[in-house]
Amino acid sequence: MTSTYTTGGAGSLEGCAADDLAAAVAVSDPGALLMSMVHVTGDVTLVDEFEDRLARARAESGAASGTHYGVQSGTVALAPGQFPPEVAAAIRERAEQVLGQDLKVRLAVPDEALFRRMAALCTVTEVDDEFVPLLLEQAGFETGRRRVPVTTSPPADFDVIVVGAGMIGLNAAIKLGEAGFRYTVFEARDEIGGTWSRNTYPGAAVDTPSHYYSYSFELNPDWTRYYPSGPEYLEYMRGVAEKYDLYRNIELSTAVISANWVEEDQKWVVVTRSADGAVTRHTASAVVTALGMLNAANIPEFDGMDSFEGRIVHTAEWPADLDLTGKRVVVLGTGCTAVQVVPSIVDEVASLDAVVRSPHWIVPEKAVVNDVPEGERWAMRQLPYFQQWFRLRAYWLASDNLYPMPRIDPEWAATHLSASPVNDLVMQTALRYLERSFPDRADLREKLTPNFRPYAKRIVKDPGFFAALDRDNVTLHRASFARIHPDGVTTTDGTFIAADVIVLATGFKLEFASFIDITGRDGRKLADLWRNGDDPRAYLGIQVSGFPNLFVTAGPNAAPNHGAGHNITSEEHVHYLVECLQYLVEEGYSAMDVRPEALEAYNRRVDEALDRTVWAHPGAAVTGYYRNSAGRPVTPCPWRLVDYWTMLREPVVENFVFTRPS
Ligand code: NAP
Repeated sequence: MTSTYTTGGAGSLEGCAADDLAAAVAVSDPGALLMSMVHVTGDVTLVDEFEDRLARARAESGAASGTHYGVQSGTVALAPGQFPPEVAAAIRERAEQVLGQDLKVRLAVPDEALFRRMAALCTVTEVDDEFVPLLLEQAGFETGRRRVPVTTSPPADFDVIVVGAGMIGLNAAIKLGEAGFRYTVFEARDEIGGTWSRNTYPGAAVDTPSHYYSYSFELNPDWTRYYPSGPEYLEYMRGVAEKYDLYRNIELSTAVISANWVEEDQKWVVVTRSADGAVTRHTASAVVTALGMLNAANIPEFDGMDSFEGRIVHTAEWPADLDLTGKRVVVLGTGCTAVQVVPSIVDEVASLDAVVRSPHWIVPEKAVVNDVPEGERWAMRQLPYFQQWFRLRAYWLASDNLYPMPRIDPEWAATHLSASPVNDLVMQTALRYLERSFPDRADLREKLTPNFRPYAKRIVKDPGFFAALDRDNVTLHRASFARIHPDGVTTTDGTFIAADVIVLATGFKLEFASFIDITGRDGRKLADLWRNGDDPRAYLGIQVSGFPNLFVTAGPNAAPNHGAGHNITSEEHVHYLVECLQYLVEEGYSAMDVRPEALEAYNRRVDEALDRTVWAHPGAAVTGYYRNSAGRPVTPCPWRLVDYWTMLREPVVENFVFTRPS
């Protein structure tokens, strides 16, 4: 991969055929085109003009005069952010004239007031002032704004150990390095990439838009699809690792097996085991676990499993040599993974039996499999700030505009399966999609209709699952496995399915960091405290009392489940931990430990906020990784992304006990 990522805005028409621009303008997002015009001309009256045009178009169509975050209670547009066709056409017409002159930037980063107006116009929604700092960062205009004053460099003996070289581990490596901290990343696997190196099953892809699901400080103009495939995402991560020269600080094939806080030394002792079995002891002032959440394959046990004469594979452990051509294949599961696998293998297998224990809410999303047209990729590369505004839109439309979705309106929920009018819109969209996909198959519609509230499990965007179910060689069973035999499977409804290969698309066990033996102050084990990951609690989803200078990234209740993006968790958590470490350096402290009362107060607030959501009250018995064995939601973050981002700007020092070096 060539590292062509940029955050700058300078484009050039040099060397481009005259019709490149016309081709690009014809297919590119009008909001981002309009904003690029403002940067190129420096002409702010374009903003006035198109605000007026938008208002007039809305008035003429009788549409509401703007929606808040794109969602208005009761009368929600599920596809907010679209320009009326006549306004989009006017933008394209103007773009050909204006951008055809030259691409010199006459306005770089606008002031906050203008930026807010531009963001609102670009996204065709309302944007309040409180979102501006977050949007400036997430769009890639302003990277790495530090909060804790930086007057002192980290001492030479202040080492940081990062566990894992996936999205957050690489992010931590980059930002720790930039802040002057010495660090080492240990990665158990033999390559970087975490989830995207592990999940190599056919059809593996991200279900968050490419232009958002990436680092805001490393925009990639070259995404070939609006939702990246797993291999393309892995390439992106490799490119970033190379660009920042991270490999020299990453030890691959090296698993961290334990971490022990040594009070006298104010250090962690971290023990690793490398692929050749060598066990090594390291010391560090701080430890960052960057393990992601979904890292341990959930492999259910079924009677007779050992007797199967074919192959049983879990999607997260896909064997490179597995050839499904002409095979009879059974797929268990209906989550994001299963819906990607099924359409990807349907053409090559002899028969495919999809076994669905409980269907998920599945919605259509054409862009999931769409390529980014070459013209729009040209615009990303050439038009000043086009890609920043494109990313801003991708972020905005997948973030706090969706905050109301999992929230329960008690009056509505008393008489509906859905949780609220907006939640109902998702349900109706999914039901209509089901109806449209299988107009003559009442049996399939019934088998595929969930009985819980939308958002109680992740909403699944369909990459072709429904279309595959309609194929002659595919059978759907609303059941689970009762028993596995040498030559197939009996389902819980008594059907025998002959099989050569069983694919377990059964998701992941949630362990958080507790599979590493982590011992804090007074010999306390994190695994005991968190009941092996079943009952984890952390302050801000990151810090645990009694475990000084330990940062558990992507910890409990930190996932943006109303919206999207492990990437935003990554950037928030890494920013926060760098601020914490810088604070220690500035003040000459050796350690910070969150006060138990702060951790408890924070978690009380988390529980209260979650109690008003479908995650706590799914409306039916619901399995899945959002909730623990007692039914408490352990992954979703209850806050708006903007609130959580704000909380994570810098440590609230009153909430910590600090220690000086002995
Ligand atoms: P998942 O959402 O947890 O789904 C697991 C599926 O396996 C469910 O249908 C579940 O049924 C079934 N299952 C589990 N144990 C079972 C058992 N003992 N018997 C019968 N069925 C069983 O897992 P996933 O599909 O791998 O997705 C996990 C998460 O990874 C997603 O939510 C997403 O965040 C991420 N992911 C993302 C992408 C992407 O970005 N495109 C792709 C893959 C995964 P029940 O519902 O009945 O429990």
